[in-house]
Order: sequence, then structure tokens, then C-alpha cells
Amino acid sequence: MEYKTILTCMRNKKKRNPKYIFVVGGVLSGVGKGVTTASLGAIFRAKGFSVTALKADPYVNVDAGTMNPTEHGEVFVTNDGDETDQDMGNYERFLEVDLTSINYMTTGRVYQEVINNERSMKYKGKCVQVVPHIPEEINRRITHASSANSAEITIIEIGGTVGEYENILFLEAARMMKLANPDDVAFVLVSYLPIPSHIGEMKTKPTQQACRLLNGAGIQPDMIIARSSAALDKPRKEKLAIHCGVKKDNCISAPNVSSIYSIPRIMDEQHIGNKLLKTLGISSRKTQLTRWNVLERKIQKAKKEVHIGVVGKYFGSGGFTLSDSYISVIEAIRHAAWYYGVIPKLTWIDSEEFEAKPATLRSLGKYNGIIVPGGFGTRGIEGIINTISYVRKKHIPYLGICYGMQLATVEFARNVLQKKGAHTVEVDDAALHPIIHINPHQAKHVKENRYGGTMRLGAYDCVLEHGSRVRKLYKSKSVSERHRHRYEFNNEYKEMVHNAGLRIVGTNPESSLVEIVELANHPFFVGVQFHPEFLSKPLNPHPLFKGLIQAAINNK
Ligand code: GLN
Repeated sequence: MEYKTILTCMRNKKKRNPKYIFVVGGVLSGVGKGVTTASLGAIFRAKGFSVTALKADPYVNVDAGTMNPTEHGEVFVTNDGDETDQDMGNYERFLEVDLTSINYMTTGRVYQEVINNERSMKYKGKCVQVVPHIPEEINRRITHASSANSAEITIIEIGGTVGEYENILFLEAARMMKLANPDDVAFVLVSYLPIPSHIGEMKTKPTQQACRLLNGAGIQPDMIIARSSAALDKPRKEKLAIHCGVKKDNCISAPNVSSIYSIPRIMDEQHIGNKLLKTLGISSRKTQLTRWNVLERKIQKAKKEVHIGVVGKYFGSGGFTLSDSYISVIEAIRHAAWYYGVIPKLTWIDSEEFEAKPATLRSLGKYNGIIVPGGFGTRGIEGIINTISYVRKKHIPYLGICYGMQLATVEFARNVLQKKGAHTVEVDDAALHPIIHINPHQAKHVKENRYGGTMRLGAYDCVLEHGSRVRKLYKSKSVSERHRHRYEFNNEYKEMVHNAGLRIVGTNPESSLVEIVELANHPFFVGVQFHPEFLSKPLNPHPLFKGLIQAAINNK
């Protein structure tokens, strides 16, 4: 190209500075800051911008892999094998992108990097200080994620709520970012407005105080998203505007909704996207939410129900924590059910029940399909094996995920191959038939107490057997799926298991590890070593969940 033409091109395509939107929480956690962040992303994407999202978690843990899912929620795994916060799953589902480890940070990860830099003299003899070095490292990560993803807009969700000691350094980073790029940074406060039952009126005071706390950290929000059980009315909008110093128009109503996938539309109707674009000096654009609207209508129109039982341990703690621990599984079931126009009904079933009273297994007959999701440890395992035995014999559609696949092979070895001593070495390290075993590399990690980030993690290829059910479902010869496990199917039993009818239909081409098993003479019995739920999207449900739901609908 001629020099003159290049210059003209450059002038025409004058690149805008990358923009950054920080989302922080006020008053309470658990009010949907992650879904709000993800919905904002969906809106900007539907306006044609390239968008990426980051989660900054205040924990000292280097990743979420070492945190108990019943306390912290699901560990979401990225393609590149990072063990992250469940909100990353929401970003992927709403933004329809694959994120990587550069989109996730924790306090532990940030400090680890700064300390490593210090050890290798990267600070050239300077005194390394909490401020500015920690916030600088946070901002280096944010700008790196923005450029690596070629994002015009980067949304950063800061975990926790303002006023917590833990997220001060992230707020400090955000403040420094604004100072350096005043026209390119916006702040959104997602806050909770209670309606105390004895008053019956929505109260703005806690949010006013959250705003003051944010001001104390040197940050003025540009927008307040008012989460509550009811819509924000005019008088309260005015109160928030006056006391928080936010434009009245930028006080956004966000009442509870029945489906999170309505949120992009609800937010767009209040022109959130264009209001934030204005703050960032970008002109308004139309939002193309057609695909989301079609999904919303499908959800509303569904009448018939499909009943799926999810069997596992941990389930004693009640539905509240569970919905967080298995959020991607729940979402994947929903996506597939809506695809077929049915209402998903989920029941959590504690497997320990089936150990004490095997007669209760009959109760499984009322479900159209059963899932055993991933898990760890020894509790409730015999109950899960009894469940698998029951659904195999009674022809109830079954999807076994990770532990659910491993235990399906244990059940098959015990009850079909008559190898009574079959087990996973995770439960019985001296099993007579270690059909699920551990490779020496993994065994070494465990022996040396190296647990963090050492499982088989992230995306691996899987070649699908010709003529198999899964190959038909995937409509492909080979797929890539995400893993998170330490134990594996023992290939010494491969032929035996395959020939007896539990067919090995998916294997990793490099390692020959068994990734998928399926029963031939069964309406649907599939076990997968990976976690298909991480790849399911509301606008693109996962083939295996679709397979299960379709079989479950036929099993009414
Ligand atoms: N506990 C099993 C393993 O580590 C399965 C893990 C899982 O279900 N995610 O191999």
C-alpha cells in the first residue's frame, strides 16, 4: 500500500482508546453482580463492540480450585485449565466467548506475581510497596486482558462489596486507572435496596452509605444498578441521585426476575449501554438482542415439564448452596430443556439415602432422566453406584459427568463383569480391580501435597467412535472438552468393558485416555470424563445435554 493510502486508512480508522468499566458491589454480596456484569457485556456485544470481562477475586487463594464449592460455589474451568470463579461461567454464557486465565485474578495471584518480580530484581532495587506495586500489577493484568482480547470495552467485576478490607487494593487500582485515563473509565455500583417487611417500603439508605464508602476510596460511581425485589420508583430514584451524586437517569431499576436471560433486555430497555457509552465518550448504538428475545419467548412459552434428578453427595446442605456449587450443570440442563420447549424441573437427591435404604431407589422411577455430576471423596459413593445400577437396568436416561462416568464403569465392572472388587482408587487405594486409577505423575502430586492447579485441567481433544450415539449427537468426529479430575479409567480393563457392552466411544488421541463410555442397549446411558456443562450456552445448548433431555422427554 502507498504511504498516502496508509495514512488515509489510519485517519479513517482512528483507533479509540480501550474503555474500562468497573463493576463493584454495595450492601450485600450475592445480589447478582456477576450476572449484571455478564448482561452488560451481552448488551455491548449486541451493539457490535468487542468486549471482554474480568473477575478480580479478593481471596488470597491463587485460584478457586482449592476452595470448597459448598462455601465458594462452583469452580469454573477455562479452556487453558484455569480453576476460576463461577462468575466466569456467566461471562462465557452471556458473552459467547471462551475466556482464559488472563481474565481471572485473585489477591493471591497478584501478590505471587509481585513477589516473584521482586525476587528476580524486576523492580531494580526499589522498595516494593503494597501501594503502588499491587494496584499497578492489578492494572497491568486488566490492560493485558483488554489488549490480548482486542477488546474495545473491558468490564472488570471486583468481587465482594465496598467497605470490605479485602477489596481495598482492587478499588485503589480502579481509582488509579481512572486517574490515568479519565475519559476511558466508568464505574457501576450494583447495590441492594431492602424492603423491610415491617415498613413495606424500599430503603435507599444502605446504598447511600455504600456510595459514601466508595467515595472514601476515591471513586464516584457513574451509574447505580438498584437490585431489589421490586422496581425502583421515581421518588427513590431522586433520593439516590441527590445523595449519591449520580444522574437520575443513571439510577437503574433491577428488580428480581424469573430468568436471568431476561436481564440483558430489561437493562437495555433502560438504555444502560448507551448511557455508559456516553460516559465513555462514544456515540449511541442500536442493540441487536433478537436472539436473546427469541430465547426469552421460548422460556415463557414452555408448558410441559421434564423432571431431572441430580444424584450426589454434598446434597444434605439444601438447595441454597447447591445452586451455586453446580451452577453450570443447572444452566446446561436449562439450556437444553428450553431448546426442546420444555420446563426443566430439577430435584437434588442425596445419594447417602440409597446406602441406608436401597429400597428407596424405586423413587428414581419418577424422574425422566438422572445426572450424576462431578464430585470428590468417599461420602455417598456406594449410593451413587446403586443409583447407576438402577438406572442402567430400568432404562432411565443417564448422564454421568466426571465422577459420574468413573462410577458408571465401577458399577459395570462389579455387576456386569462380576468383578466384585472393582473400585476407584480414590475411595479404595487397595482395590482388587482398580478400574479407575491414578497415573504416577498425579500420584506424585498427591504424595507431595501439591494440590493447587495440578489436576488434569482444561481442554483436551477427544476422538469419537464411528457409529456411536455421541458422534451423532456432536455431529463431529472429534471434539474438545474441559477437564478437572485426578483419576482416570484404567486401560487394562478397556477391552473387557467395551466388549461387554459399555462401549468406549471417546478417547484422547495423544494419551489414549478414555473420555466417553456409552451403553449400546439403553435409551441413553453416557458417561464422560470431562465437564460438558462448561461449554453449554443458552443460545447454543450442549449436544450431550440435548441428548439427555431428548431421551428424558421420550421417557415420560
Ligand atoms: N474425583 C474424581 C477425580 O478426581 C472426579 C472429579 C470430578 O468429578 N470432577 O478424578
